[in-house]
Amino acid sequence: MTIYETIKAAVPVRQAAEHYGLRVNRNGMACCPFHNDRNPSLKLNEEYFYCFGCGAKGDVIDFVARLFDLSNYEAAQRLAADFGISTEPGQAVAVPHKTKRPHIRQFREDEMLCFRVLTDYLHLLEDWKVRYAPRTPEDKLDDRFVEACQMLDHMEYLADILTVGTLEERGAVVDGMMKEGKIAFLQDYVARKKKEVLPHEQRSSTEPIR
Ligand SMILES: [Zn+2]
Repeated sequence: MTIYETIKAAVPVRQAAEHYGLRVNRNGMACCPFHNDRNPSLKLNEEYFYCFGCGAKGDVIDFVARLFDLSNYEAAQRLAADFGISTEPGQAVAVPHKTKRPHIRQFREDEMLCFRVLTDYLHLLEDWKVRYAPRTPEDKLDDRFVEACQMLDHMEYLADILTVGTLEERGAVVDGMMKEGKIAFLQDYVARKKKEVLPHEQRSSTEPIR
C-alpha cells in the first residue's frame, strides 16, 4: 500500500474537512473553502468532495493539499500526523512547516478572539446593569447603566451568532469586528473598565479577563 492508499482508506473526506474547521451539515454539505461560498455548495462523501459552485473536486489528499497549499505528498503526511496514522514503520512522519497560514486557520483565530472579547464585554454589561441601576426614581442615571441598557441586546445577538450561526453569518460578524482595529479597541476598553469596577484585583492586561 502506498501512503496515499493508506490515508484514503483511513480518513473519510468529510471527517478531514470537519477536523480542519469546516461545518458539515447533515446532508454532507459545507461552505466551500475554495471559493467565496455563501451557501453550502461543497458536497463531502467518504471518498471524494465536489463543489457545485466552483467545480473543485478530488479525494481527501487533494482536499488537504488544496486547503493548506501543500503538495500531495505533504498533504498525505499531514493527514498521517493529524490522524495518528502510521505510514512507514520505523520512520517518523515529518510535517513540513509552512509559514503561510491557511486562511481558514486565521479565521478561526480571529473568531475565537472576537468571541472572547464579546463575552467579556457582555459580562461587564450584565454586571453594570445590576450594579449601577438607579435605586430610586430620583437618582441620576449612571453612564454605565445606560450603556448596559443600550448595548446588551446587540452584544447578546452577536454572541449568539458566533455560537450558533452559519459560517457565513459568523464570517460577517468577525469581519465587522476585526475592521479598523475595532476588536483591539473593545478589548482595551473592557480591560480598563474592569479595573474600574474591581480596583483591588491585580490583573494582567494581556490576559483574557473573566
Ligand atoms: Zn467551491
